[in-house]
Order: sequence, then structure tokens, then C-alpha cells
Amino acid sequence: MYKALLVDKPAEGYRCTLTELDEAELPEGNVIVRVAFSTINYKDGLAITGKSPVVRKFPLVPGIDFAGTVEASAHPDYTPGDRVILNGWGVGESHSGGLAQFARVNGDWLIPLPEAFSERQAMAIGTAGYTAMLCVQALERHGTTPAQGEVLVTGASGGVGSVAIALLAKRGFKIVASTGKLGETEYLTGLGAAEVIDRATLSGPGKPLARERWAGVVDAVGSHTLANACAATQYGGAVAACGLAGGMDFPASVAPFILRAITLHGIDSVMAPRARRLAAWNALAAELDPAKLDAMTHEVPLAGALTAAPDILAGKIRGRIVVDVNA
Ligand code: NDP
Repeated sequence: MYKALLVDKPAEGYRCTLTELDEAELPEGNVIVRVAFSTINYKDGLAITGKSPVVRKFPLVPGIDFAGTVEASAHPDYTPGDRVILNGWGVGESHSGGLAQFARVNGDWLIPLPEAFSERQAMAIGTAGYTAMLCVQALERHGTTPAQGEVLVTGASGGVGSVAIALLAKRGFKIVASTGKLGETEYLTGLGAAEVIDRATLSGPGKPLARERWAGVVDAVGSHTLANACAATQYGGAVAACGLAGGMDFPASVAPFILRAITLHGIDSVMAPRARRLAAWNALAAELDPAKLDAMTHEVPLAGALTAAPDILAGKIRGRIVVDVNA
């Protein structure tokens, strides 16, 4: 038997509970992982509360990511004792996930845990941090450099935002952090933001074009915030869009695209090809300051994920939450 969170949808309605499952209830897959840590990402908040239909199969263990040790493997790349991580691939959505003491998955979805990280550190980064690196690497491929000017990070105090600030600061960028939590200004400048702005300045309807300010943008918010970020991006600049914390709509005009030749890079972590995942995790291992990672992380036991879920959707969480699935 092993402890797990379980999402179910009986006649009484959607629910997520802490329970015990039998090994026979593990989903199909060729690698069993003894999970050490998982996390609460925004999507896990949606899955646990049922606020959006991200869970597509019932009953299901939520948790879109985990770090742990291979317990049993029929996959040629993995043997018992290997340390591994998983992000996405529909795990925690259509295949039971990481908020449990054991997971069984397709070994092709796993990647080796970089030597630099403990399981806890890998999950302090989690899918949010890996996505932040995908955004930073999209700006890098675009050719965005610190000499071109300021970079805007929205949803700054959240998981993607916090890691993005730490990574961009390490690369020498001057970062403007947009947040709804001005009380976290010291936290954000501690991570490396040069300036902190009130997200209310970006969250309402704006003009098709605004003063050219941003050399690049990492946006975790969507909606008007993304539209306003595009409108104020410099000629030839780039915006990496990964999130919808402020809304799924995109009420923008084509003006920044056809008059300023800006580029909007869509970022998806779930189905990202293996080579891109490995590149992102290797870069995280090389660049992310462990002290900054510690500053943005707090830990909860498995049952604590149930209370953290509505909090993350309400935008109340600062940084990252790791879940000790064995506590
Ligand atoms: P968090 O909840 O940790 O961070 C989101 C932040 O957005 C909040 O902390 C808050 O920051 C801000 N925010 C919250 N609500 C609103 C609102 N109504 N309007 C404007 N800003 C708001 O989530 P994550 O960092 O885990 O994820 C961020 C987004 O990225 C989510 O939408 C998530 O689904 C998406 N995502 C996408 C991935 C992909 O593959 N494309 C992978 C991972 C995440 P502040 O108070 O500082 O403004």
C-alpha cells in the first residue's frame, strides 16, 4: 500500500482526498518510481480543486511532476536506484502522477536527475522552473541580449516568475518584475529584479502600441497583461508566453507584429521534445543559484497539497511549494 492524493468525480461531485492505494492500482508503464518529492504548480491547483477540467480520467492521482528513484524498470535506459525526474507528458492529467509515494510511467517520459540537484531541489524548480528556463532559452534563441534593454517578467512572485527572474539576472539582464504583491518587493529584488511594478499597470485594456520599452518579456499571466507587454515591446523584440494566471484570452492587435516586427514565442512544457528538456535541465543545473532557489521554496507534507491548491489559484503563494510525499 502507498499514500496518494486521489481525484475522483462521484455523483456527489468532484473531490480530491488523501488515501492509500494498492500497487495493483498503479497505471500502466514500464518504470516504477519511488517518489521523494513532488510540487504544487498552478495546473496542480486546477486539478486538485477541479476549477478547470485538467483531469481527464477518473480516479487519478494528480501531480504533473516528481523526482525520485527507480524501483523497478523494464526500460533499457533505467535500472533500480537511478535518480529521475518527470515533467508533464499528461501525467497528473490523464495518467496518474506525482502526488503519491509511487508512480508508474513510460520510461521515455523520464529524464535523469542532474547531478547538481537533490530530489528536493529538482522539485523546488519543478515544472514551473523548467518552464521558466524554456522561456529564457526562447529569448536566447531569438537573440535577445542584456545590451538591448530591459526584460519584463509578469506573475513575478509566482513559480515561473521567481525562477525566471533568478535565471535572467544570472545572465546579466535588467529585469522589471510585475506583481500584484508589492509587499514582496524585497523578495523580488533579492532574486535579481532591478525594478518592481504594480501589475495593475498592465492588467487593464491598453493601446495597440505603447512606448517601446521591453527587449524581451516572460509572461505567465496572459490576457490584457500579455497584450500590453506585446504593445510595449521594442522593434524586433520577443515575448515568451507560457501562462494564463490572469486569463486565457489574448485581447491584442496585430500592430506590434506588423509595425514593430515583434515575435511571440509560445512555450509548452508538457509535450516539449526530450532534447529541449535535457537542454533546459542542464542549463538549470549550471545557472540556478541554490541560495535563490532556497529563498523561493517552502515545503508541505502530502496532505498540505490539498490546502496549497486553492491558495495557488488565488495567487497567494510566493515562489515554489515542494511536497514531501513521504511526510
Ligand atoms: P503561480 O500561481 O505560482 O504564479 C502565477 C502568478 O501570477 C501569481 O503568483 C501572481 O503573481 C500572478 N497572478 C495570479 N493571478 C493573477 C491574475 N488574476 N492576474 C494577474 N496576475 C495574476 O503559478 P506558476 O508559476 O506555477 O504558473 C504560472 C502560469 O504559467 C500558470 O498560468 C500556469 O498554468 C502556466 N504554466 C504553463 C506551463 C506551460 O507549459 N506553458 C508550465 C507551467 C506553468 P503576482 O502576485 O506576483 O502578480
